[in-house]
Amino acid sequence: MKIILMGPPGAGKGTQGNWISNYLNIPKVSSGDLFREHQNNHTELGKLASSYMQKGKLVPDKITVAMVMEWIENNKHAKGFVLDGYPRTLTQAEALDLSLTNNGLGNLDKAINVDVPTDVLISRLSGRLVCSNCSQIYNIKYAPPQNDNVCDTCKEQLYLRDDDKKEAIQKRIEVYFESTIPLISYYEATNILVQIDGSNSIDVVTNQLKNILSN
Ligand code: AMP
Repeated sequence: MKIILMGPPGAGKGTQGNWISNYLNIPKVSSGDLFREHQNNHTELGKLASSYMQKGKLVPDKITVAMVMEWIENNKHAKGFVLDGYPRTLTQAEALDLSLTNNGLGNLDKAINVDVPTDVLISRLSGRLVCSNCSQIYNIKYAPPQNDNVCDTCKEQLYLRDDDKKEAIQKRIEVYFESTIPLISYYEATNILVQIDGSNSIDVVTNQLKNILSN
């Protein structure tokens, strides 16, 4: 199974992507996590990406495509993959198709779009906390950690992402509508698009996914 997870920021792609990865036993990568890893390691790519990420803008296609295609190349012997947050532009989608062909990996199996109304996204993102070690996602209101600011799983500190601050949230949602929404028709045309309602609780969304993946 080669799956991409699309949807606005705060739709729950990270949480559901982790679930799919465990359920199907395939690796998952989030392009946002790859950029954050570069930032933490103070690489040139990380420094370059930071200036875009802090403002809620997309990192330019050239940089993003190279980084994610390297990940695909390194994981091409797995049974499949889940991509969370990639592609976000038509150029990225076309680059992915080309890379799959060049690596003899065939076509994508499913493009899952997780749809959530904007007011719900804003409320989710404003209360989001992320583990600095394992990237587990919490929410002050909807999915709080057992102990304040500490990850339930690895006991490391939780933090508020720079781009989960108010102005950046607005920009990220705008960018999603401008650049990523056109991908819905791109994948509809190849009959692999699946739309799910991400406004429900985590368990309800997971159940929808389970049904889709069992078919
Ligand atoms: P995310 O963790 O998916 O919300 O991504 C955080 C930030 O990383 C985004 O707001 C962008 O600045 C950058 N980013 C992540 N994925 C991509 C992508 N596919 N294309 C361009 N920028 C990206």
